[in-house]
Amino acid sequence: MIDISVIGHKVPDTDCVLSAIIAADYLSKKGYNPSIYMQGELNKETEFLLEQLNIPKPEIKTSFEAGTRMCLVDHNEDFQAPDNISELDIAWVIDHHKLNFTTATPMYARVEPICSTASILYKMYKEAGFEVTKEIWTMMLACILSDSLLFRSATTTKEDIVLAEELKQITGITDLDAFAMPMFHAKSDLWDMEIEKVIKYDYKEFDFNGKKAGIGTLETTNPSYALGRKSEILTGLEKIKSDDNLDFILLSVVDIIWEKNTSIVLDWVDSEIIETVFDTKVENNLADLKNRLSRKKQVVPDLTNYFSKN
Ligand code: MN
Ligand code: MN
Repeated sequence: MIDISVIGHKVPDTDCVLSAIIAADYLSKKGYNPSIYMQGELNKETEFLLEQLNIPKPEIKTSFEAGTRMCLVDHNEDFQAPDNISELDIAWVIDHHKLNFTTATPMYARVEPICSTASILYKMYKEAGFEVTKEIWTMMLACILSDSLLFRSATTTKEDIVLAEELKQITGITDLDAFAMPMFHAKSDLWDMEIEKVIKYDYKEFDFNGKKAGIGTLETTNPSYALGRKSEILTGLEKIKSDDNLDFILLSVVDIIWEKNTSIVLDWVDSEIIETVFDTKVENNLADLKNRLSRKKQVVPDLTNYFSKN
């Protein structure tokens, strides 16, 4: 049996944690001996799902012994990967983000422009004809609904809708609204969280043509929670921007129910960028980014484009 460590990205979300658990199951059926890890605390949506499904949470680990064989799920870029990624043996990548990495040796990679990593895993199981538990199928469905925001996000493809339909039949979960809403509510429940954690709840750093940017996205069924703490959030953004040496920072509050992105903008430098890139006005540190629910598809590409010229 070949040992392999399966892990998702930094600042774990539902797709990366559950996909690590699913991928470990898949790899065990392929003759590997997998261990499952995550790079930080669970968010409340994932915590809720693992509790519901009675599945233990993976151990947190952010660096590994040199030469450890790895399977990366839901990410591939170095800054999303474990800290000492350059010393590790990347044997597998299963992902739905843009590719930006190199490896020393050949590897297995499965990357598709589809809404969740679990959607890809579902196809891999179907192709392999492996037997699967109901928990695994349910986790796949949860990942599709989480990453696609119940098909509201621009990352949703026709194929994801077909896959979710198949998973509905398999799991017997017929009412997707009733299944997804408690997940989204669990994720929105941030009342007891300190502000820096709120900002970094679902947060990614980007390198835009040498400029360092941080973009947080709060997908919530209750936007007033975050917007009501705007002044605290601005103080938090200012601290993170300076502590992490960022050139740009943004926190998007994404209303999942009404499909609206209201973003909190820190200073005039960032305001000018936001106004230029998204053709909007920043007033009282707030920018209406309309129905841009997807950071990956509707926020980052325009910023990448802007910074490539500025
Ligand atoms: Mn993810
Ligand atoms: Mn994902």
